[in-house]
Amino acid sequence: MKSKLKLYNTLTRKKQEFKPLHDKKVGIYSCGPTVYWYQHIGNLRTYIFSDILKRVLTYNGYKVKHVMNVTDVGHLTSDADEGEDKVEKAAKREHKNASEIANFYWKIFKQDFEKLNIIEPNIWCKATEHIKEMQELIKKLIDKGYTYETSDGIYFDTSKLKDYGKLARLRIEKLKAGKRVAMKEKRNKTDFVLWKFSKLGEKRQQEWNFLGRKGFPGWHIECSAMSMKYLGEQFDIHTGGTDHIPVHHTNEIAQSEAATGKIPAKFWMHGAFLTFKGEKVSKSKGGLYTLAELEKKGFSSLAYRYFCLTAHYRSQLEFSLENLKNAQNSYERLKNIIAEIKDDKKINKNYLEKFEKAINNDLDMPFAISILWELVRDKNVEGKLRTIKEMDKIFGLYLLEKEKIKVSTEIKKLIGKREKLRKEKKWKEADEIREKIKSLGFYINDTKEGPKLERLK
Ligand code: AMP
Ligand code: ZN
Repeated sequence: MKSKLKLYNTLTRKKQEFKPLHDKKVGIYSCGPTVYWYQHIGNLRTYIFSDILKRVLTYNGYKVKHVMNVTDVGHLTSDADEGEDKVEKAAKREHKNASEIANFYWKIFKQDFEKLNIIEPNIWCKATEHIKEMQELIKKLIDKGYTYETSDGIYFDTSKLKDYGKLARLRIEKLKAGKRVAMKEKRNKTDFVLWKFSKLGEKRQQEWNFLGRKGFPGWHIECSAMSMKYLGEQFDIHTGGTDHIPVHHTNEIAQSEAATGKIPAKFWMHGAFLTFKGEKVSKSKGGLYTLAELEKKGFSSLAYRYFCLTAHYRSQLEFSLENLKNAQNSYERLKNIIAEIKDDKKINKNYLEKFEKAINNDLDMPFAISILWELVRDKNVEGKLRTIKEMDKIFGLYLLEKEKIKVSTEIKKLIGKREKLRKEKKWKEADEIREKIKSLGFYINDTKEGPKLERLK
């Protein structure tokens, strides 16, 4: 790899050369979903961005440890530490318990990852399974004098830090003059809750004892405690959407810095919004589809992935069904052209170097895609297939597969069962399973590399 990897760091507002803290190992923490509802395609754009980041780091020879949280408690409906807990509210709506809700939407989220070919994190961490770590961190902050108590919780006093808000370059003076921040018993408008007390008379499904009272953690402390547990007091990269800059990540930095004296991550990277008519996709503005809804309209999830790669992660991307249709057409055309290529020459270094330069330039995927198109259209070049194969390690678009066969868990289980029977030389039973799989529309081709599925025509 000739080109150096440069990434944009929100903290410094600069593109910087990336150098890991520890040799060739890279720790990434990505703020994950709040599992109270389906994730919409806007959310998913942010996870496609962190997937590309991870693939580019791996391509550069780093060993990535990727941690993603699952927020199943403490994310309130209002950013001002008020309103209902989103997961508890959903549990009431669906007459289920909170953990059923969380597990249900988390499962769908993981299926979305599979459909979008997003590589799963090495560690998933659920907030409710890390209450002890959060309480310990809050105790540390109490001991160091960064907190105060009000009638509804334990708050972080942001005036105790001399440079609170540096990530977002918040102008605290301006905020002080602003009207819209609810103060109640808060000492400063930017103060935020670390631990919220359960309301008197309210029986929450998810609550824990802490300092003699029942309550639950604030959303920001979750990420500080869990990133610290799995990646240490300081790690390489923290990711999320741009909406996390002024509040969530600002507060994560405040807490961790107060507790350890260190900014938790070296690089802070943020994905820009998917927009609809120029504004963040939302219930009122529109564009708030899930992948399943897009599928019903005839769009493949990989076409959505392709669509996301046509914009730089730091630029907003305007969504419309028409824009997505155009992307799907291009993606299909691209795959059809590639399917016709027959050459097994060596990788084309010239194209690959240009491609590497693009991905290492702060993940410039639109440019990388244009290089791919240039390559497939170039009539005087050899080694196309192998070069495309390399590139697809980053794109993750199954460019060399004629058709990405979606296999249900039922079929996956049957294949596993059949393999076991074959190992035990129980041929008759194995054949019965082959027939069963046939009845589900697939043929098993036993190759040297193992069983391959083909769709029955
Ligand atoms: P949430 O489940 O609301 O915490 O959001 C999950 C992730 O999606 C966060 O990293 C958000 O910053 C991100 N996000 C939310 N809305 C959008 C959007 N319209 N476009 C891109 N990312 C978004
Ligand atoms: Zn977070």
